[in-house]
Amino acid sequence: MKPALPGLHHVTAITANAQKNHDFYTQTLGLRLVKLTVNFDDPSSYHLYYGDSVGSPGTIMTFFAGEGAIPGRIGNGQATTTVFSVPIGTMNTWRARLEKAGFPVKQLEVWGQQRLEFTDPDGLQLALSEDKDSKEDGISGFAGVVLGLARPAESHRLFTETLGFELVAEDSERRLYRSQHSWMETLTAPGANGRMGAGTVHHIAWRTPDDAHQELWLERLQGQGLRVSPVMDRNYFHSIYFREPGGVLFEIATDPPGFTVDQPLEELGRKLVLPSWLEPHREKIQRFLPPLKLPQATPDFQSLGS
Ligand code: ZN
Repeated sequence: MKPALPGLHHVTAITANAQKNHDFYTQTLGLRLVKLTVNFDDPSSYHLYYGDSVGSPGTIMTFFAGEGAIPGRIGNGQATTTVFSVPIGTMNTWRARLEKAGFPVKQLEVWGQQRLEFTDPDGLQLALSEDKDSKEDGISGFAGVVLGLARPAESHRLFTETLGFELVAEDSERRLYRSQHSWMETLTAPGANGRMGAGTVHHIAWRTPDDAHQELWLERLQGQGLRVSPVMDRNYFHSIYFREPGGVLFEIATDPPGFTVDQPLEELGRKLVLPSWLEPHREKIQRFLPPLKLPQATPDFQSLGS
């Protein structure tokens, strides 16, 4: 069988305000803060991870928080919209909930499914797709991502011939690719190039089950002439990075070890966690980080009402 990436692992974007970001993703969207740490490459800023109750791969939305970061521009070479999955029949509940929180929404039908589009406090484009059969009202993880591509033909070849995506639909404006757990929608209309900054996606990460599979992807991608990073230890997963031909930064991240590697499940996200090599500098690091108010208990969708 042809190797294939099973689906999204996480999406990482940039926020200019950690507190507003935290309040929106936990209170309005009902996700759990599963890890509060710093950007390992720049410990003067937070790295916030949100997800389901355990931070399962496929549910993890993460943010680099550069206080006062300059707004970016959404465009080619980026994931332009991140789409979460919600249960069938919950569109009206979600519409009311978002509008009540002050976030205007646009409802549309895409590929036969209801989609609710809105932006987060930084202007990051998000959507909810009504596509799950579930008794819970909440977000169950990612449905997929929309990508703006500078070179759609070259990206198409990589997606279908190397990464194992299947082209399942297309019209004059977009193409829809599927993997086992996620889809990728690409915009074929030529657009302006994006510029990284607050309110834009930094990279998207695809799942792989373990280090051995990741090693195979590394070799396979290098075999295609792509420049791939060495394996990086991100504490909660191991990562390799490469840029697909359309300009979007892709990562392939391992499912293990996950967020309970350095905190018990019930304490996930309750306090700042630092990797071992930064722990000796905790006091100094905390002095530079802006204060962030965390709730005593993690809110959930039910307790907030609609
Ligand atoms: Zn990542």
